[in-house]
Amino acid sequence: MIDDLYQEIILDHSKKPRNFGPLENASAHAEGFNPLCGDRLTLELKLDGDTVQDARFRGAGCAISVASASLMTEALKGKTREQAEQMFQRFHQLLTTDAPQPEDLGKLAVFSGVREYPMRVKCATLAWHTLHAALQNQEKVSTE
Ligand code: ZN
Repeated sequence: MIDDLYQEIILDHSKKPRNFGPLENASAHAEGFNPLCGDRLTLELKLDGDTVQDARFRGAGCAISVASASLMTEALKGKTREQAEQMFQRFHQLLTTDAPQPEDLGKLAVFSGVREYPMRVKCATLAWHTLHAALQNQEKVSTE
């Protein structure tokens, strides 16, 4: 079972997503779709050179996909492209392996419980796949 505190944070972010809505003067964007669950989101980024200055998203999906996008956009600000890609790798590892948990994921660690629900892994990683696409200048990405 997902730890109560973790569950609370996920519920909070799914009901009141942070950084939700369009981003003016975005310099990168991508659309992500998870056909398994029907989650859809559009991610917009404002990059200053290599650094993510701002990140916002729109879309609709299950609680886990929305909470993940909300927490991701919070975590991204001030990170370089390289740091963002590293966070994606660590986050993916957290959800798919039993390896010791990376310590520097901060609040993103709330998704560790999703590992017990393989169907939900794509919900939690959709925002990150979309981020990867946006950083690679791909317009659209699907988890399937
Ligand atoms: Zn979902």
